[in-house]
Amino acid sequence: MNAELNQSQVRAMLLQVAANIIEAEPELSEADRRLGDGDHGIGMKRGMEAAVEALGQLPEDAPVNQLFGSFGMAMMSTMGGASGVVFGSLFRAGTKALKESPESFTSQGLADLLTAAAETVMKRGGAKPGDKTMLDALVPASEKAAQVTDAPISEALAQVAATAAQGRDASSEMIATMGRAKTLGERSIGHPDAGACSVAIILQTMADFAA
Ligand code: ADP
Ligand code: MG
Repeated sequence: MNAELNQSQVRAMLLQVAANIIEAEPELSEADRRLGDGDHGIGMKRGMEAAVEALGQLPEDAPVNQLFGSFGMAMMSTMGGASGVVFGSLFRAGTKALKESPESFTSQGLADLLTAAAETVMKRGGAKPGDKTMLDALVPASEKAAQVTDAPISEALAQVAATAAQGRDASSEMIATMGRAKTLGERSIGHPDAGACSVAIILQTMADFAA
């Protein structure tokens, strides 16, 4: 059980996130194929490969906020399109949100990161919870994180990841009102949003790492 994570643990955790998203490429693309254009896994894989490279270029003692920030920046600049901004912002929000605690990743840091990420994604992308996007996993996860700031990071992440998974599942029953799936209308019911699947994998990987 980890009370908090240090800089080298955060680096290793982010590398594991990248590895797991890259491994999930087929299922993420399949999720997007049902509702969108089938490229979500490919885009995420490209972003994660660039993010891994960006981490490799940072000094050994890079602060936690810079690790998240560079990771997200690399995603943003290589993925392109709406999802590049959306998923890049998720990590890049750490640049500011985590700067008060540059040597450790705490439950408070997790809450600050996810709150800032959800706000940025809503502001930049114009979607809101219920539109059947990654926000349906991210927003409930950020709210849960804000409730468990006193818990050790391992416990906080476990609860946040479980909440994100519930949000992903709940997105199945939603009608898409944003993006490509919008044209499907009620036919979008019955499948989870691809981006919500990515958010659930990202947070579950972090939880497993911290456990
Ligand atoms: P594209 O839509 O360009 O093909 P991807 O397939 O990589 O991009 O990603 C699609 C995912 O991105 C969606 O499943 C959704 O979760 C997320 N997404 C797209 N637009 C938005 C938005 N405006 N706000 C939040 N999430 C979004
Ligand atoms: Mg797509």
